[in-house]
Amino acid sequence: MRGGLPRLTRIARVIEENAQVRTFVLEATVEADPGQFVMVWLPRVDEKPFSLVDADPVTITVAKVGPFTEKLHRLKIDDKIWFRGPLGHGFELNGEHILLIGGGYGVAPLAFLAQRAVGAGRQVTAAIGARSRAELVFPQRFARLGCSVILATEDGSAGVRGLVTDVVESLLEREGVDAVYACGPEAMLDRVLELCQGHGLSCQLSLEKYMRCGLGVCGSCQRGGMLVCRDGPVFTFRPH
Ligand SMILES: Cc1cc2nc3c(=O)[nH]c(=O)nc-3n(C[C@H](O)[C@H](O)[C@H](O)COP(=O)(O)OP(=O)(O)OC[C@H]3O[C@@H](n4cnc5c(N)ncnc54)[C@H](O)[C@@H]3O)c2cc1C
Repeated sequence: MRGGLPRLTRIARVIEENAQVRTFVLEATVEADPGQFVMVWLPRVDEKPFSLVDADPVTITVAKVGPFTEKLHRLKIDDKIWFRGPLGHGFELNGEHILLIGGGYGVAPLAFLAQRAVGAGRQVTAAIGARSRAELVFPQRFARLGCSVILATEDGSAGVRGLVTDVVESLLEREGVDAVYACGPEAMLDRVLELCQGHGLSCQLSLEKYMRCGLGVCGSCQRGGMLVCRDGPVFTFRPH
């Protein structure tokens, strides 16, 4: 089976990113591309997909939104956790000046991509958005990795007031960006796609869809004839 049987490991570190979001560093490593995900399994609870924030060690960042993530948030250092993967198709690193656009926990796979891109000598700008300062995820992580960081909050409590996509237009015009990557809420991704099409740029978007098997078997993550787990979660959109 692709991704193998769930692999048992333990939690090495828990980082509280904000009131709803925690990062779990596991005592495991995998070979993975940024944008790939793992299926995390908690026996007698469920199995759910989470993007890799790092592969060495395996790191995931989890927003508490429902029953599974509530149980996950209760786990402590040394507790057992199981995962399958890495699964899916990740980002392809293109361009010399890349722009990353992340909303909410959508920054998770982009942080992994930023690490690889900076390591490969690319110039990286990260535009991160949330409703408020308290809900921003990784406001410092991208700067530590060597990216230029632009923050946007809807209430203006940090960075530019407004949606992260409001700052994207001027970045595309001013900064000589030649590759765009985004992950976040659907409305944000729709706007990123529209802006990229308008500027004649390709973009790679990580899409989210409710997922069961993660292997392209059950069909629950179908979207426009494609399966998000098997054909994505990263899809490339080229200009018309
Ligand atoms: C490839 C991929 C990568 C992901 N990476 C991350 C990550 O890095 N961090 C992170 O926090 N989350 C990530 N997710 C999302 C996470 O897997 C889900 O939010 C998961 O469902 C949470 O489980 P839960 O039981 O806590 O909440 P759920 O009860 O599953 O609910 C979570 C949300 O999903 C909605 N939902 C529930 N069932 C369905 C359904 N059948 N169809 C559509 N929507 C539904 C609910 O309304 C609710 O808003 C990722 C998802 C995918 C597909």
